[in-house]
Amino acid sequence: MSTEMGFRLSKQRKVILEELRKVTSHPTADEVYDMVREIIPRISLGTVYRNLEFLSSQGLVLKLGGPGTQKRFDGNPKPHPHIRCSVCSKIEDVMCEVDVPALPEEYTRGFDIHNCNVEFVGICPKCKTEMQ
Ligand SMILES: [Zn+2]
Ligand SMILES: [Zn+2]
Repeated sequence: MSTEMGFRLSKQRKVILEELRKVTSHPTADEVYDMVREIIPRISLGTVYRNLEFLSSQGLVLKLGGPGTQKRFDGNPKPHPHIRCSVCSKIEDVMCEVDVPALPEEYTRGFDIHNCNVEFVGICPKCKTEMQ
């Protein structure tokens, strides 16, 4: 029973990861759910949420989004800069190398720093047009 369960969960996790890696739209958990349901029609939203949290805790996907915005997921786990629209909160990749700022040791509060998320925030062309 437990073996069967474990297999089923890992298959779901694999499908979630594969679907997420196919897109660069940085989907929300709800959008991932819609994508995965095409393949596993009986999967629940809760299962998708739990697996996304697990995958991001393992560093296999990136979890994006600031406080007050819906979390978005990125199938590319390698740190890369993003640009986010402050109106519709869509997130796109920035295809250039950005220098990660060095944090002086007196400000690291004892953390071992291994990453820095760079996110540029602005208003996307679509939202700009709609505002005019
Ligand atoms: Zn926008
Ligand atoms: Zn990205």
